[in-house]
This record gives sequence, structure tokens and C-alpha cells, in this order.
Amino acid sequence: MSNLKHQVTVVTGAGRGIGRAIALELATCGSTVVLSDIDIEGAERVASELKELGGKALALKTDVSDFGQAQEMIERAVSDYGRLDILVNNAGITRDNLIVRLGEEDWDRVIAVNLKGAFNCCRAAAKVMMKQRGGVIVSIASVVGVMGNAGQTNYAASKAGLIGLTKSLAKELAPRGVRVNAVAPGYIETEMTKDLPEAAKEAFLTVIPLKRPGQPEDVARAVRFLVSEDASYITGQVVHIDGGMVM
Ligand code: NDP
Repeated sequence: MSNLKHQVTVVTGAGRGIGRAIALELATCGSTVVLSDIDIEGAERVASELKELGGKALALKTDVSDFGQAQEMIERAVSDYGRLDILVNNAGITRDNLIVRLGEEDWDRVIAVNLKGAFNCCRAAAKVMMKQRGGVIVSIASVVGVMGNAGQTNYAASKAGLIGLTKSLAKELAPRGVRVNAVAPGYIETEMTKDLPEAAKEAFLTVIPLKRPGQPEDVARAVRFLVSEDASYITGQVVHIDGGMVM
């Protein structure tokens, strides 16, 4: 079990799904966790769960697509806990449609949350981590950002962009002792995927060599490894958590 005692983590979109699982995993390793979400009730529910397990947690309402709110989130973490060791860019949305039916608003919103949101949070966190001469950033990308998916041009572009952001930032921040990586989950069972048509879910299983959907905890355990000292020589990488879907 990794030891994250005395470390401070910010997880965006932590009110449910993969973000919740990451928050729980890192808290179990001893980290204080700032749970931010546009859905404050969700973030507060998860903060209560963490506190019941004996962890230190703070819930914040943040829309990551808003530059000022992302900055305030990082400033609040630092003012309450004195430092920032780990940032997990997890907040993300889908607005799927074939390109000829995809409205401008749905394109803009997906890019604003999934890509600009990560930029907003990284920019604020990088300042703190560079001064500290240490820190770790992990962004939740997607296999779709690597292999593409019909009906998800906006989402795939945002996740491919996130991978480019990750690699560039890893190069920028390595001299300051800050590591930056991404994970690319495949088909994970959460609220985001629960309304997919049954046929789509079955189609996924035919291309997943491990023959099962992933769980949020599968992603959380990989994130726990990437933020730990065990991964101290790993930066600029994209770790696939997809049952072998993309290889
Ligand atoms: P969920 O939809 O279950 O959870 C996402 C959380 O992020 C929700 O609480 C949501 O709030 C919140 N959120 C949405 N917009 C914003 C915003 N602007 N600012 C802050 N928080 C926001 O998704 P998952 O847990 O499934 O996904 C988490 C991440 O993993 C996403 O980045 C997703 O793209 C990625 N991913 C997921 C996969 C999957 O199969 N599930 C596969 C690959 C990647 P609200 O409920 O109010 O919208």
C-alpha cells in the first residue's frame, strides 16, 4: 500500500464514479483530499464517506471550465492545508453525436470541460508545485483519444488534446521535480456509461480481451501507483486501463 501521509490531493469531478473511487483510494493511503465537483452535493457525500473512514476531506463547488474557479480551488487547497502534492484532472463530460448533427454548443462545452478544464487546473497547480519543487499530476484521458470513436469527435478530440497537454507539461515541469502522466480508461461502468445501448455495451465486450467492463476502482488503483514514489521515474506516459482493448 502506497504511503501518501501528509500529502494533499485535489480531485476534480470527485462527486461520483471514477473521481469518487480515486478520492477514496488516495485517502485510504493517508492523503488529505480536496473533492471538487460542479455537483457540490455529490462532492459533500463523498467527503462524508472519507471522513467516516477517518480521512481528512474538503468538498468544493468548482466548474473546472471556469478559469477563475479552477484557480480558487487550488488556492483554497493550499490555504487550508499548506501545500499541494497531487492533482487529478478527472472532471469530464460527453455530448455524443455524429458530426453533421453535432451542435457548436456541444463541441464547445466538451472541449471547455475536458481540455480547457485540465489546462485551468494544471496552470494553477503548476505554480504551486514548481515552487515546492515537487508534485504529481494525473489526467484521466480515454482510449477514445488514442483510437477515435464514431459519434464522439468532440470527446475524442478533447481526450487526444489532454494527452498532448500531458506530454508537453511533463517536459516543462520535469526539471522542477513535477511528474505529469495520464491514464486512458476503456469501458468503465459509471453513470457516464450506464445509459449506453445494450448493443453498444455488448460490442465493447467483444473487443476487450479480458472480457469484462472495468470498474472505477481499476482506474483508481492505477492512479494510486502513478502518484506514489513507486512511479518516481515515470513521467509523460499514458497508461491504458482497458482490459487490453487498445494495444
Ligand atoms: P461521471 O459522469 O460518472 O462523473 C463525472 C463527474 O464530473 C460528475 O460528478 C460530474 O458532475 C462532474 N463534472 C461534470 N462537469 C464538470 C465541470 N465542468 N467541473 C467539475 N466537475 C464536473 O463520469 P466518470 O466517472 O465515468 O468519468 C470520469 C472521467 O473519466 C471523465 O473525464 C471521463 O471522460 C473519463 N473516462 C470515463 C470512462 C468510462 O467508461 N466511464 C472511460 C474513459 C474515460 P455532474 O454529475 O453534475 O455532471
